[in-house]
Amino acid sequence: MEKRRLGNTNMEVTIVSFGGIPIITRDYELSVKTVKRAYELGINFYDTARAYQTSEEKIGDALKDVRDKVFYATKTHLRSKAEAEKHIQESLRNLRTPYIDLYQIHSVDDIHTLDRVMSKDGALPALEEAQKKGYIGYIGITGHRAEVLIEAINRYPFATVMSPLNFLEQSHAANLLPLCKERNIGFIVMKPFAGGSLVTADKDVQALVGAKSSGEMARLSVKFAISFPGVSCVIPGLGNPQEVEDAVQAGEEFGALTKEEKSIFERLKAILVEPFCRGCGYCLPCPQNIDIPAILKALLYATRFNLIERAKNMYAQQAVKADACVECGICEERCPYQLPIRQMLKSVKETLG
Ligand code: SF4
Ligand code: SF4
Repeated sequence: MEKRRLGNTNMEVTIVSFGGIPIITRDYELSVKTVKRAYELGINFYDTARAYQTSEEKIGDALKDVRDKVFYATKTHLRSKAEAEKHIQESLRNLRTPYIDLYQIHSVDDIHTLDRVMSKDGALPALEEAQKKGYIGYIGITGHRAEVLIEAINRYPFATVMSPLNFLEQSHAANLLPLCKERNIGFIVMKPFAGGSLVTADKDVQALVGAKSSGEMARLSVKFAISFPGVSCVIPGLGNPQEVEDAVQAGEEFGALTKEEKSIFERLKAILVEPFCRGCGYCLPCPQNIDIPAILKALLYATRFNLIERAKNMYAQQAVKADACVECGICEERCPYQLPIRQMLKSVKETLG
């Protein structure tokens, strides 16, 4: 598979690399098998985060014997210097390594957070000190909003930016990506599947959009994201060896989507009008224990795919229903897509009872 230099770093990474979120929920054996399969097929860049629970440890265990042949990227979502220092040490232990190639500040989605991490006792000075001590190689930033990330790279020479880019979210390609290209900042694409919205195992939904399989949808999503000029690599979340194989295949045959391939996503995009939930789970936990992504998925099936009976069954399986919401608003502060979750939960009550 083709490799590209990550901005002005010394890292040449495979255009399809490894996103470490799905292995959070896979058992240890399957996770290690998945990571090893990625290595066997040539993937050399592995992205994880402190927030991804056991993901760092699983990657560290799977690749400990080939550490010198791969690059590790991880992240801290905590904002103070002391907390970030603690996270760096935890990541080093979990990844079984004395050195992490890229350490990122995770999910900076508003200017207030950017100010906080860049302040004297914020996370960024902790990363700079760790870099001087040789614990980390480069410093990067991740987020979902192009205007915040543009402000970040205007203020600080981050080596990499990680941001979503997929058929449903292309605004980054218009604004942020050319700037990163011009300044030689590595651009890592997260969420090429739009948090799962572009890839579904549901046969009815596949039939609605004319896709043959979830593997085909995954392959095309990855192919689409890599085709943008300036993209260094794409890190699809990979949770089993088959998903690794589909993603690697996309990396090997990359190029612009054909008209027929594009039409699958165009049909899906026409159905998925805003607001809709991407299923990313960033809004959790809800203090009332509402499984927000699962309930909003049922709403999506009812209102966008018109699969009402399926939606009702999905909702019936939820132990805590939408009417348990006390409208505290915590979830909306966390949602990177600024979804009106409280309002959407009210529509669930009206639509699904
Ligand atoms: S607004 Fe409702 S759904 Fe959101 S966190 Fe609060 S109780 Fe949970
Ligand atoms: S409501 Fe927002 S944060 Fe929660 S799963 Fe959906 S898109 Fe993600």
